[in-house]
Amino acid sequence: MAVKKTQTEPQNELTKLDKLSAYEMVNYYFEQAANKLNLPEEYRVAMKGTYRELKVQLLLRMDSGELKEFTGFRVQHNAARGPYKGGIRFHQDVDQDEVRALASLMTWKNAIVDIPFGGAKGGIAVKARELSPRELQGITRIYTRKIDLCLGPHKDIPAPDVNTNATVMGWFMDEYGRRRGYSPACVTGKPLELGGSEGREQATGRGCLFVTQDACEDSGIDIRDCAVAVQGFGNVGSNYALFMDEQGAKVVAISDVSGGVYDKEGIHIKKAMAYAKKNGSLEGFMPNNRISNEELIELECDILCPAALGGVITLENADRVKAKIIVEAANHPITPGGDEILNDKGIVVIPDILANAGGVTVSYFEWTQNLQQLHWEEEFVNNELHKKMSKAYRRVQSKSKQYGVSMRIGAFILALERVFDAMKMRGI
Ligand code: NAD
Repeated sequence: MAVKKTQTEPQNELTKLDKLSAYEMVNYYFEQAANKLNLPEEYRVAMKGTYRELKVQLLLRMDSGELKEFTGFRVQHNAARGPYKGGIRFHQDVDQDEVRALASLMTWKNAIVDIPFGGAKGGIAVKARELSPRELQGITRIYTRKIDLCLGPHKDIPAPDVNTNATVMGWFMDEYGRRRGYSPACVTGKPLELGGSEGREQATGRGCLFVTQDACEDSGIDIRDCAVAVQGFGNVGSNYALFMDEQGAKVVAISDVSGGVYDKEGIHIKKAMAYAKKNGSLEGFMPNNRISNEELIELECDILCPAALGGVITLENADRVKAKIIVEAANHPITPGGDEILNDKGIVVIPDILANAGGVTVSYFEWTQNLQQLHWEEEFVNNELHKKMSKAYRRVQSKSKQYGVSMRIGAFILALERVFDAMKMRGI
């Protein structure tokens, strides 16, 4: 690891790391991988920078009659390996730096699972859960029109992310199609009726399962002996919990924005999913077993899956993490300072750019089906996903062994090599 704790400057370096912005964090890992590859400086500049950043004003007439202003972003990072691809997030914390970081992560993620896309990300700074369905549809359509100039099935293809789902993607496709004609491949994560793919909804959680299985096999751990804690019970977290439960693991803790629940005997995941669907969150579920989101991170368990927001494992709490394996379902849930501590403790971290790549992989399958006007069966989709995820896991493992680095840096090395090769072959 680049930063080693010594007696004289123990925490200072790590403290600095935890203060990096999201984009700086990504580039901190980028630099470690680039150093291992002896990547020339001019290529580092070219590969770290973003190609295009849009910031747009969104004016929405609220149900109350008030005209409100929101800000939307679309950042295109690198398209050496194919059209820009990345989700759209509706959340009050969305800002340009985070979108830039997430766009860059998409470039590396798509390269790791070896799908023909570059990286992009978008978002709107808005409290999505406070919008009515009419307001949500309205802001989606305005945003689509505002960023329309850089979109297209062969240019930039959005997808769902936090607080956006298949319904939102359906509106997106409709709005895009009003100007450009029927183009289902302009966006992925759509409802099945509009050209969505079988298996897309559960793909990210399923992809996390596949890499967990590979990591358990490598560590000589039987999944059926594992206690699992999952933070975030949305699309990714709830499906991951369900799949782990189906594999015979004991899911002992789950949580969402309302807090969490813990039962060392295991939680009935299907009941929890039904409860969250009916009530909008886990609030009130198993009221005698409540824990906080902070407590969940530090629980006695074998596998910890942060599947909500970024920056939940830091310099402050990493030392108290007891899991043997961490599956980063969320994007950048661990700060670089936290990552150093986890590495020192010998905890296996399956990095976000590998672990949560299942969603974009099935998005790629959806795009492929749309372009060919074909429909694949779910079993076929899941099998292809399994092949892609396990192949990527093995390649990342082999890079981390070859260079003597963590899986995160191994993943960056693999991604950088692939993007670098593509840029060179294009004559950049
Ligand atoms: P989602 O909106 O469906 O669910 C998010 C969950 O996190 C909800 O249960 C919410 O209550 C919970 N949450 C929000 N704030 C929280 C907080 N402060 N503490 C604890 N829980 C909180 O989103 P999702 O699609 O499941 O995405 C979750 C994460 O996975 C995000 O980081 C996203 O970027 C990442 N991701 C998603 C996909 C995908 O295909 N959906 C793909 C790759 C990565």
